[in-house]
Amino acid sequence: MPDPGQAVGDADLRRLLHDKRLRATPAGLAVLRVLARTHDHHHLTAAQIHQRLRADDPDVPAATVLRELRILTDAGLAHTLHDSDGTASHGIVLAPHHHVACTLCGVVHPLPTTTLHAALAQVSKVGRLSFEGDTIVLHGICPACRRRPRGPVPAGPGATDAPRAR
Ligand SMILES: [Zn+2]
Ligand SMILES: [Zn+2]
Repeated sequence: MPDPGQAVGDADLRRLLHDKRLRATPAGLAVLRVLARTHDHHHLTAAQIHQRLRADDPDVPAATVLRELRILTDAGLAHTLHDSDGTASHGIVLAPHHHVACTLCGVVHPLPTTTLHAALAQVSKVGRLSFEGDTIVLHGICPACRRRPRGPVPAGPGATDAPRAR
């Protein structure tokens, strides 16, 4: 499995599809390529994926994006996150991961599951909760949003700087 930090080539993507017994259709490969090469946002909405695909093929229908996302998600090559406002975003799964998300702009970054192992072991001891097969989202404010002046009500100094878990 390719290292998530490295550029993922088409050969890697074809192998991922092949390992899941999926045919490397041009549409499936194109959607997976967008998800694999989005370095600014780890997760994208279906509309953002569609927009990026249209740079190569202006006629690609939105329904194709949704269909391919469903196939990739069913195979475990992609997964979906739901924002607090219900917005669904999609990301490639090269390795199991949790997420850190900005509460203001919604940008999502992957967080390797290993970084939370100790914390989760503690949680499962205390609350006897199991997080298997689920993804945890830690919320905070990203650097771009921290720099941006925010709304008519000025926030107190440092009011929103600390990451908060939800
Ligand atoms: Zn993800
Ligand atoms: Zn942000």
